[in-house]
Amino acid sequence: MRVAVCVKQIPDPASPYDLDPETHFVVRPTDQVLDDTDRYGVEMGLQLAEQTEGTVTLVSMGPSGNLQGIRQALAMGADKAVVVDDPALRGSDALATARVLAAAIAREGFDLVIAGTESTDGYAGILPQQLAELLDVPALTFAKKVSVDGEMVRIERQTQTGYDEVEASAPALVSVTAGAVEPRYPTFKGIMQAKSKPVDSLTMADLGVETAAQQRIMSIRPAPERPSGEVIEDDGEAHLKIVALLEQAKVI
Ligand SMILES: Cc1cc2nc3c(=O)[nH]c(=O)nc-3n(C[C@H](O)[C@H](O)[C@H](O)COP(=O)(O)OP(=O)(O)OC[C@H]3O[C@@H](n4cnc5c(N)ncnc54)[C@H](O)[C@@H]3O)c2cc1C
Repeated sequence: MRVAVCVKQIPDPASPYDLDPETHFVVRPTDQVLDDTDRYGVEMGLQLAEQTEGTVTLVSMGPSGNLQGIRQALAMGADKAVVVDDPALRGSDALATARVLAAAIAREGFDLVIAGTESTDGYAGILPQQLAELLDVPALTFAKKVSVDGEMVRIERQTQTGYDEVEASAPALVSVTAGAVEPRYPTFKGIMQAKSKPVDSLTMADLGVETAAQQRIMSIRPAPERPSGEVIEDDGEAHLKIVALLEQAKVI
């Protein structure tokens, strides 16, 4: 099975980052890391490729930098990567990104596309569904478990109360939740091998895509501070108050 895994490189969330004062865009540093939520997609892709003697191709759009995040995913075991980096794509919204990724994935050929449910920095949470529509394949979303049986792809779709069993025949797209699998740590051998794995760098012209940047950030403001938590004094009935709070939050 040819598995294409969408991976996004993001600025290290542990480091402060700069904003362009005019466009309000994040100034993307050369050192970017693999978005943590995409490690689950990479792991899922690797497991399915191992079961089906297939391949895993990483597909990414954004400033390449020194490809640190892409190499992290290659070190986990992916076979190759395709990175679309074009200054004309700066400011792309989710739909423009989906158009570019769809063209890159179609160019490579695929049986299954895997994405995270929501990226850590942009968190539009819409790209996988747009990608499935553009590739004209079924979208199996919010998977907490994925299995492949011949042509059939089955998932357990996370819901508020449990899960739904959903299936479709390949080619298809699956978005995986964090926790669906336990991402492996790259081995030393994997890190060394990643340095020589192929990374194709493409532009919009290479893909024949004419999508233009479509997003303008009008203003930004700091996120409101979180309100402090509620302290419950134990007067002998604290457990009842805690249960009521948990019920209100719909966690029990
Ligand atoms: C020059 C340039 C500069 C950019 N600068 C920024 C920036 O400053 N901030 C920013 O957030 N984005 C930037 N992007 C990337 C792009 O605009 C966003 O990725 C896009 O808007 C998708 O939004 P999202 O990440 O919120 O999607 P979501 O729908 O939240 O993402 C869901 C999943 O889709 C996949 N995915 C999302 N985006 C990508 C991607 N780019 N490549 C591969 N897989 C992806 C991941 O698997 C992710 O888990 C830049 C792109 C280019 C070419």
